[in-house]
Amino acid sequence: WRDVEFLAAQLTIETEKPDAKDLPLVAICGRPNVGKSTLFNRLTGSRRSIVGDEPGITRDRIYGQMEWFGREARLVDTGGVVPDDEALIPSEIFRQAQVALEEADSIVMVVDGRSELASPDMELARLLLRGGKPLFLAVNKMDSESMYWQAENFRQLGFRNVVPISAEHNGGIGDLLDEVFASLPEPKTEEDFDETPTEVMMTEIDEETEDSDGAWTAPEALTEDEVRDRLEAERDADRLAAQVYLEDQPTAPTERPRMLRSHGEHVLKETKVAIIGRPNVGKSTMLNALTGTERAIVSPIAGTTRDAVDEVVERGGHSFRFVDTAGIRRKGKTKLMAEKLSVIMARKHLEAADVSLLVIDATEGVTGLDANIGGYAHESGRSVIIVVNKWDLMTKVGKDGMRLWDGKPPADQKIYEQDVRDALKYLEYAPLLFVSALDGKGVDAMFKKVELVSRERRKRVTTGQMNKFLDKVDFQKASVPMNKRVRIYYMTQAAVAPPTFVLFTDKDVKMHFSFERFLANQIREHFGFIGSPIWFKIKARNKK
Ligand code: GDP
Ligand code: GDP
Repeated sequence: WRDVEFLAAQLTIETEKPDAKDLPLVAICGRPNVGKSTLFNRLTGSRRSIVGDEPGITRDRIYGQMEWFGREARLVDTGGVVPDDEALIPSEIFRQAQVALEEADSIVMVVDGRSELASPDMELARLLLRGGKPLFLAVNKMDSESMYWQAENFRQLGFRNVVPISAEHNGGIGDLLDEVFASLPEPKTEEDFDETPTEVMMTEIDEETEDSDGAWTAPEALTEDEVRDRLEAERDADRLAAQVYLEDQPTAPTERPRMLRSHGEHVLKETKVAIIGRPNVGKSTMLNALTGTERAIVSPIAGTTRDAVDEVVERGGHSFRFVDTAGIRRKGKTKLMAEKLSVIMARKHLEAADVSLLVIDATEGVTGLDANIGGYAHESGRSVIIVVNKWDLMTKVGKDGMRLWDGKPPADQKIYEQDVRDALKYLEYAPLLFVSALDGKGVDAMFKKVELVSRERRKRVTTGQMNKFLDKVDFQKASVPMNKRVRIYYMTQAAVAPPTFVLFTDKDVKMHFSFERFLANQIREHFGFIGSPIWFKIKARNKK
């Protein structure tokens, strides 16, 4: 990794003019393939050149210059030293955020409007939001105005300024530049004003409207020192967390569950369960509640490190293996450390599990970190059950009819569930339970749901059933642009756990995510698959 960084440092080239250093700087961030380079080229009007190109590796960062109504700014594309085809790893997200927060006056994060939010998007957004600099979310690949409404789906990242754009087709770029330039410090010298009188008027108008129309104001302005301290603390925590992660890697693959065939359905003898969530939501307490009252067998798996210990509970002829219980109880020394660790642990536990219990603290609701961990659970292909814990605190009432701990009236489960679902949209398939781990309430329900979703994720639908279903689906109801629609000739379930369907189609195109969601929902309505994500693969008849 050091070698790669070194190489990148050597490759730094300057496309900007020599006297550009005084200009305000705008940073572009985002994971690979969202369109950062395309936007960079669009804004600077020049192709970004890659010097000393190594196969699969783009440069560390690249600078250019842009102009809007006579005002100038520098632009940096932070998109990094990553092999093009790899997912954005945490340290790379962190590096981008760091460059942006340290150097830039204003930051544009780019997401791919045609794909669903991925965990790296959320992680990057979280880091950027903490920095206190003007932020803009460019939702890219919105190639026609009829698609602009879809940008609203990305508001959940927490940005106030969301602009749909098409970097490739020059859509929405003016709107983005208007907003970005309005957030930048005024030009420093008198000459700038003299050279461009009309343009200055435009900026003044922008300035006037700033307060009234709610243009950007710093949410919690941090001093430079504070930003640096935070970044340093993050860096330390990252390093420690990475160390823990490496230390804890199992050295042998964990055994796969045995499957028995009966009546055409896979019956599982054992379900591996991961308890995941951010610090203090009650994971350890829940583990105690789930394993404590029953006979718990502590059994280190051969070939794993001393730390990784599973606990197995037998219940109603089914066995539940809680993976890495030492890890569930593990706490970080500082708050930041504990938070980082909780994400790393969640990812590690998901790898070893079939089903995950995503624990939420009822008194705090869904936070950004919860959403982040939930994102990893969704992408992992494991089944998910959302467990709202500490519900006792939401319902205990005092003499005045108010909740004992915060003086508010007792919470309503229906309203509460809707809030959780709004915040965790991508987990719409996950059952949700209200429990109190401390009081041992909801233990039975949790076991029942785990067994249910573990059965559901292994269900298999025959191709005959599938095609009968396909005939009945009204594809006109899918809210997808006509040119994005594909004709499905037939469809077959290729795998279980998670259920994975192969679609044989007329066109070799990536399925639009709203189409994918529509189809998944239709499948769920007919066949269930409760708690499990549904995956699709496309096989086109006519390769383009
Ligand atoms: P980067 O990795 O974030 O720098 O992404 P690139 O700029 O290399 O773009 C990734 C892919 O997305 C390329 O194939 C681009 O042609 C495509 N792309 C970029 N912007 C748009 C856009 O506005 N609309 C569409 N449809 N594709 C785009
Ligand atoms: P972890 O960091 O996610 O493992 O959380 P812990 O299990 O250590 O719990 C954090 C705190 O929340 C502890 O003080 C627990 O006693 C408390 N707690 C956990 N579950 C419940 C619950 O259902 N109700 C209440 N009132 N407190 C709980």
